[in-house]
Amino acid sequence: MRKSLVAGNWKMNLTVSEAVDFSRELVRRFAHADISDRDIVIAPNFTALFPVSEILRGSPIKLAAQNLFWEEKGAYTGETSASMLKSAGAEYVIIGHSERRKYFGETDETVAKRIRAALSAGLASIFCVGETLEERNADRARAVVETQLSGGLEGIDHDGIGAAVIAYEPVWAIGTGMNATPDQAGEMHRFIRDFIEKRYDKTIAKNIKILYGGSVTAENIDTLLGMPDIDGALVGGASLKADSFEHIVKFRRE
Ligand code: PEP
Repeated sequence: MRKSLVAGNWKMNLTVSEAVDFSRELVRRFAHADISDRDIVIAPNFTALFPVSEILRGSPIKLAAQNLFWEEKGAYTGETSASMLKSAGAEYVIIGHSERRKYFGETDETVAKRIRAALSAGLASIFCVGETLEERNADRARAVVETQLSGGLEGIDHDGIGAAVIAYEPVWAIGTGMNATPDQAGEMHRFIRDFIEKRYDKTIAKNIKILYGGSVTAENIDTLLGMPDIDGALVGGASLKADSFEHIVKFRRE
């Protein structure tokens, strides 16, 4: 049985002191929870990574960054490398989020470079794919996701993919309150797992974690995770409220 994973993407929210207070509250809530069958990850803003890592030390919560730049170091003003994230305490990094694709020109090619850089620094990528509403309505959802997977995993070998997590995040469901139905999400997760089997092998496909993201709430998590190929969730808005994030982490599959 694959271990589940729930990751909170805080996006561009919370100052350093707010992030520290909030992570302290999460540590308190999960200190005695029976959650050994699931991993919990939070992804604060870059500035809060190191102080939050100090709060998380010794807790079951792991740290993720929201992006990285693929070069190791040098004249790249404003950028942050994989080894810098690692030295700040991150174990995961979100890559290819649709907001980065939409607002910051992220492409499948740059996604692949970032995943490769994460791998060489020993960071686990949470690699995001997903179609827009227009693409879904034109019956192109699978084709779009297949192109993103194939481009984003360029140059990633069997060992490399073993260290990655995939997040299916339909763009139309992110921050809209309009989540994919369990059937829609389950079908795409199956498709992604089949893709991984064809590209790598059966064992890798069986073991890789595929998360669903897009308007996950305390109310819909249990049914979404009732689908056999959904291994967890990437949560935006609902990860910024302690009550809803706690409920989501403590999901019970329906
Ligand atoms: C996200 O940004 O990854 C996300 C899934 O956001 P939300 O849960 O707010 O839809």
